[in-house]
Amino acid sequence: MRCRKCGERTVFSSPALCKDHFISAFEKKVYDTIDRYKLISRGQRIAVACSGGKDSTVLLHLLQKRGYDVTAMAIDEGIAGYRDKTLAFLRRFCFERGIPLQVHRYQDAFGASLDHMMQRSPRKPCTVCGVFRRYLLNRHARDFDLLALGHNLDDEAQSILMNLLLNNRAVLSRLGPKAGIVEAEGFTPRIKPLYLCREKEVMAYSFIQNLLTDFTECPNIVDSFRAEVRDFLNDHEASHPGFKELLVHEYLSSLPRLQRQAKDSGDLEPVGSCSLCREPSAAAVCRACSLKKEIRVSSPERQGA
Ligand code: SF4
Ligand SMILES: [Zn+2]
Ligand SMILES: [Zn+2]
Repeated sequence: MRCRKCGERTVFSSPALCKDHFISAFEKKVYDTIDRYKLISRGQRIAVACSGGKDSTVLLHLLQKRGYDVTAMAIDEGIAGYRDKTLAFLRRFCFERGIPLQVHRYQDAFGASLDHMMQRSPRKPCTVCGVFRRYLLNRHARDFDLLALGHNLDDEAQSILMNLLLNNRAVLSRLGPKAGIVEAEGFTPRIKPLYLCREKEVMAYSFIQNLLTDFTECPNIVDSFRAEVRDFLNDHEASHPGFKELLVHEYLSSLPRLQRQAKDSGDLEPVGSCSLCREPSAAAVCRACSLKKEIRVSSPERQGA
């Protein structure tokens, strides 16, 4: 197959592009997303949520390449045989490129690793992990103007379908390239510059640019609702190519209506603060503090409180 722009040998088939044209098309897509959705203003300080995986590494690379002020922020949940490897890669990557790196550990914040917590809890690991990870990211992103996430189009298609199936209208109204409760005090806005990039494009770019990490997935992913939805979407995409892109674009065109409806129906409750840790929370006690009590791990204190 030949590049549709110059006739050279292709490195990517859909669309057919050679190495140079694929790289410039991919980078243009990401930077156009940033500009079109006004994700970043010059001078803003950006924490990039990094796992050491391909998506967040590509994001870190592209934001640094365009000259943004980036700091990598990683969460060490304490998942033996997995997170230690991805963090070793991330440490090396940041050191070689002079990118500041922060690592925040469950062990320090909550008194136990995720592996240890799961010995005491009947809950699924991803439920516990997701609550505590969001808690720590939110707390430490407060020193920054933006928190950038490496979510790609496939991730977003999963989030849309998961929240549709759960009829979670409040969360549905808060997805999108600029996500979250953007006006709440103590809450750093989240941005997703890879929002319109398919997972296979991110994978190809990371491979071509030598950013590839060959780590396997978290061993706990098999046990999650997200994995079920991901497998369903992949099967459906195989028989209906373009389905995920259609889903995300349909969602984007419905987003203003979903946001209006959520506001009118009171689904977007005003965000107060947790009575125990004082982090932003719609309930009197936030989910992290409730879970912590349930699993009986130590209290996360608000920094500086
Ligand atoms: S797959 Fe689940 S347990 Fe593993 S890092 Fe992701 S949320 Fe945490
Ligand atoms: Zn070409
Ligand atoms: Zn709390």
